[in-house]
Amino acid sequence: MTDVQELKNRACMAIDAHREQIYALGEDIRMHPELGFKELRTSAIVQEHFGRLAIPLEAGLAITGVKGRLQGSKHQASVCFLGELDSVLVRNHADADPITGAAHACGHNAQIANVIALAYGLVEGGIMPGLDGDVVLMAVPAEEYVEVGYRVGLKEQGLIEFLGGKPELIRLGKFDDVDLTFMTHQASAEQRGVLGVGGPSNGCVVKQVVYTGRAAHAGGAPHSGVNALKAAMLGLQAIDANRETFRDDDHIRVHPIITKGGELVNVIPADVRLETYVRGASTEAIVAAATKVDRSLVAGAMALGAEVEIRTLPGYMPTKPCDAFAEIYKRNALQFMSEDDWAEPSFMAGSTDMGDVSHIMPVIESRASGARGTGHGADYRIADPEVAYILPAKVAACTIIDLLADGAGAAREIIDTFNPPMTKEQYLAFLRSQDRVDHWHPAV
Ligand SMILES: [Zn+2]
Ligand SMILES: [Zn+2]
Repeated sequence: MTDVQELKNRACMAIDAHREQIYALGEDIRMHPELGFKELRTSAIVQEHFGRLAIPLEAGLAITGVKGRLQGSKHQASVCFLGELDSVLVRNHADADPITGAAHACGHNAQIANVIALAYGLVEGGIMPGLDGDVVLMAVPAEEYVEVGYRVGLKEQGLIEFLGGKPELIRLGKFDDVDLTFMTHQASAEQRGVLGVGGPSNGCVVKQVVYTGRAAHAGGAPHSGVNALKAAMLGLQAIDANRETFRDDDHIRVHPIITKGGELVNVIPADVRLETYVRGASTEAIVAAATKVDRSLVAGAMALGAEVEIRTLPGYMPTKPCDAFAEIYKRNALQFMSEDDWAEPSFMAGSTDMGDVSHIMPVIESRASGARGTGHGADYRIADPEVAYILPAKVAACTIIDLLADGAGAAREIIDTFNPPMTKEQYLAFLRSQDRVDHWHPAV
């Protein structure tokens, strides 16, 4: 039997030995936020540290992704711990990039610090020879589903197919040699305690909508025009009328915005654009709600005699966390804190592409309370660097050791009893079925 506790102690000591460096790295990334699929600087930092630790790596995956692999004594299972490279866009955040407006208001800088800290713990702690499986460390682009137009451009250039980093890495086969995946996100303000495993979450599809009417003088000849803004507003009202049909258990969220409302006040608007997500707790619920949204949008066009084009893009899958994996994680977390500091899972109405990974293998996303303020808000900040940058790496190291020591028995048991909601092929086929353009126009 491996002395598991001895391995855990060594991993944590190696992480502690790099504490100041990891703090500095987390802060450096915080001060240099980059938006999804543009995280070149952050990606280079990950590559530099993997290089220093002589971890074989692949880079440039889905433009900026990095994947390193640490070999155990045997290869009974592969456990991936990942971090997200990207930031969000909050122009009035104190740390916002003055040119791009990007800011780390979702704490992903801490995730990259966690991955690097874990790498130091496993390599310098000399842990891998004591394990019977491999560890994959990944830095993944573009978790935030933003700058949709820019990403559609990347898609049209053939640089990506899907608009999120993890779906893209799944498509590229970068998860094919991984059996289990986990990560730590900084918790939302509502979470009590220091650390917990996130519960299930909503998935989503994304819609870009263009209403086309006919411009005319708004004072002199409105009868000659077709008002695309009125059509869009009726479409939005029809969506609202459908809300009473949404079941509580499905957690449907539809939150459209008008991204273009007209050109000039004295011209009947002829080009009006909307964007929305349709979120829900299951793929069936999302598809059903999205049908109602499409119907509503067409209703607005029909009423005014405008045209409407609805571009549907696959979003993210609902998250289905693996309970058996979560149990091992919790047991290790409780070596660092009391039960009072452990946060039990609760449903998350937002969406993440960890949900996509959870459809093809056992996944958990733990949540650490190292940040304060509003997620994606101007007051978001890292308040407790120890909990944000260091603690998740230590708990990850200990969890990996439990999973992969002694023939990787614990990892094998999870893998062998796990029933994935979809195969990779079914998952990709589902995403592609959500990628389409629908038109409605009046008969001429
Ligand atoms: Zn996030
Ligand atoms: Zn976020």
